[in-house]
Amino acid sequence: MVATESVVVKIAHPTQRKAAWLREMAQACSGAVQCALDAAEQLRTSSRAKLHRATYREIRTRFGLPADYARMAVNAAVSLARSYAGLRRSPHQHRTSFPKVNGAQGIGLGVNAYQLVRGGNRWILRCSTGVRGVYVWLPLCVPSKFQERLVGAHGDAQLFERDGTWYVMLPVRTATPTPTTCSGEPTFIGVDLGVVRLATVAGSECVRIFDGKAVRQQREHYADLRRRYQRHGRRDRVKAMGRKERRWMRDMNHRISRQIVDLAGAYEQPVIVLERLDGIRERVRGSTAFNRMLASWAFRQLVEFVAYKAAREGIAVVFVDPRGTSKTCHRCGHSARANRRDQGHFRCVACGYASNADLNAARNIAALGPAALAHGAPDTPPGEAGTENGGSRSDVV
Ligand SMILES: [Zn+2]
Repeated sequence: MVATESVVVKIAHPTQRKAAWLREMAQACSGAVQCALDAAEQLRTSSRAKLHRATYREIRTRFGLPADYARMAVNAAVSLARSYAGLRRSPHQHRTSFPKVNGAQGIGLGVNAYQLVRGGNRWILRCSTGVRGVYVWLPLCVPSKFQERLVGAHGDAQLFERDGTWYVMLPVRTATPTPTTCSGEPTFIGVDLGVVRLATVAGSECVRIFDGKAVRQQREHYADLRRRYQRHGRRDRVKAMGRKERRWMRDMNHRISRQIVDLAGAYEQPVIVLERLDGIRERVRGSTAFNRMLASWAFRQLVEFVAYKAAREGIAVVFVDPRGTSKTCHRCGHSARANRRDQGHFRCVACGYASNADLNAARNIAALGPAALAHGAPDTPPGEAGTENGGSRSDVV
């Protein structure tokens, strides 16, 4: 199985000539996307084939875009038009107008429009200009942790500018070995996800708890700011705040998932057991719709990160049905709502076993691991699109 994730790499401060090329290209691309969008509105379609037919030639001549840039501009318009169609269908959005291209559109860099050239630890992005044999060479600032991953870079990329700095977002393929049977005795590491405790990790002789308090406080802080900006009609700031929060959550998920995978990696034959996420929506009931949405989004991302980081290190991951894991006694198997005395405490009414509630759940999840591994449980959470195309651009800078 091959998964795709996205890596965002900074472009070294460009010379004046290159900076001018980037600006001009960005402008031409925005114009081209707008042109295709206008066609989408006029023809009332978001069909890729129809828009391609209607605008490709015009985009090539009027904006002087090389083939693979023009194709990307049409693609960008298609996805904008489709998201608009999706919004129109949603019952909460009545008065949305047809999307317009804004300055942040960037440059769609088709797979054939660039090449990554490597010399030792130095990387250069070679962009075609449409003229045979003439390229723009953009040196990249590649952190050492990305060095090896960039080797697998392949597919449509995107150049974009934020606060005066240019970045390129590259899709990166990672080979993920599907969990097969392990030789030797595997150790099952169960991960319980929650709101009070973000993640409780239980291995055979280790426990790690990621407290959710700091996250809750930070999210409340963001929610406060968002409300304030909303009151003042600052939709731009509300949006920016949303981006900032998603970046922050993403960073947090990266760190937590790294620790979970490191913890598992300490065992000889680790198998990480994760819960399927269908139930998360249920479990955060009582919170507002927004919180529920964000919590489920954040958990999905955490699970995705754990899965791909583990895969990269050859650590098996299985998914289990978490139903009942929070009210079942890990020692005797007695299952009753009364076992759960309150949010934090578990005490079995049958055998008296007492434990932290999340830890008991994490142990139950770990205990479901062997069966899931034996039956060849799916290695991706059901209903997930995998990591195809990574996050949206606003998530990754
Ligand atoms: Zn019991």
